[in-house]
Amino acid sequence: MDFAFTDEQLAIQETTRRFAQERLAPYYMEREKEASLDMVAVKEMAELGLLGVNAPVEHGGMGADCITAGIVMEEIAKADINYAFMQLMTSSIGVLLSKLAPPEITNEFVPKLLQGETLLCMGLTEPGGGSDAANLQTKATKDGDYYLLKGEKTSISLAAQAEKGIVFARTSEGGARGITGFFIDMKQEGVTTTRFDDVGCTPIGRGSIFMDNVRVHKSQMLGTVEGKGFYQIMNAFDLSRTLIGLQALAPAISSVEETWQYAAERQAFGKPIATNQGVSFPLAEAETLMEAARNLCYKTLWLRDNDLPH
Ligand SMILES: Cc1cc2nc3c(=O)[nH]c(=O)nc-3n(C[C@H](O)[C@H](O)[C@H](O)COP(=O)(O)OP(=O)(O)OC[C@H]3O[C@@H](n4cnc5c(N)ncnc54)[C@H](O)[C@@H]3O)c2cc1C
Repeated sequence: MDFAFTDEQLAIQETTRRFAQERLAPYYMEREKEASLDMVAVKEMAELGLLGVNAPVEHGGMGADCITAGIVMEEIAKADINYAFMQLMTSSIGVLLSKLAPPEITNEFVPKLLQGETLLCMGLTEPGGGSDAANLQTKATKDGDYYLLKGEKTSISLAAQAEKGIVFARTSEGGARGITGFFIDMKQEGVTTTRFDDVGCTPIGRGSIFMDNVRVHKSQMLGTVEGKGFYQIMNAFDLSRTLIGLQALAPAISSVEETWQYAAERQAFGKPIATNQGVSFPLAEAETLMEAARNLCYKTLWLRDNDLPH
């Protein structure tokens, strides 16, 4: 058993950490107030290869393993959780389009996405539920060479800012087997969006997407046949859920580290407050739980890298 990162992974971790601490962390509160991403910083991430870490090299990704994607995710999220969404979404959408979209879509949008020149979103979750994706209700009705999409997606990252998006809709009954993915223009007729008031994640602009008979050509379907959408997205989610685990843990780990530092410096009754068990025990317990969760994430990424069930 080997828990060590490789030399290459450590080098990527160091580069990411330096960028994140210098270019992202100092401006987090400013971005939160402005409710916007700094696209110059997104482009800088792209130049360092930090967008689409595990997306294919031929489309501009780093082609790295999943553990490396996890390392990048942690370092970015420690500095600003919003930009960690960029790494997550460029990887997952980049990989999905590279594998399943027609070449015209892949060749145009994956390089733009990975160069930080466009924002794309992915809409699966609906008001009726996210975990139970096989039961989604958005309908795609065939109309000649087109489909008409009707329904609502909610809790979608970048909903209000994305230029294009992948949305999943029901092309037939039959639960998981009736779901198909489509690549849509987020500014086209019939699409409206709202933006949530997400404290701490305001710049990413999570929100709802309403589709009222949105006309989509059949060439914008993901995959060559209808009804494969659920399996396509679930495979991608096995990775993104693990990366989201690291994304959520990273700021928590940073917070506990900062608390330790404060508790070691802060004096009360002639000694650091960290010497009181009432202060140190909850911190030690939090650290134990976070270490266990972090190891579970990395084990899952390792299983995926080694083509083992996860
Ligand atoms: C910050 C953020 C960004 C997001 N971005 C996107 C995005 O870009 N695109 C997108 O499509 N979605 C996005 N989502 C939505 C996310 O995918 C859903 O929140 C998630 O799938 C859970 O769905 P839900 O919120 O409807 O919860 P529910 O499905 O209602 O689940 C509620 C609770 O019940 C538990 N539960 C559900 N079913 C079971 C079961 N069978 N057994 C045991 N427990 C169960 C769940 O674990 C959870 O604790 C985002 C969510 C967040 C918080």
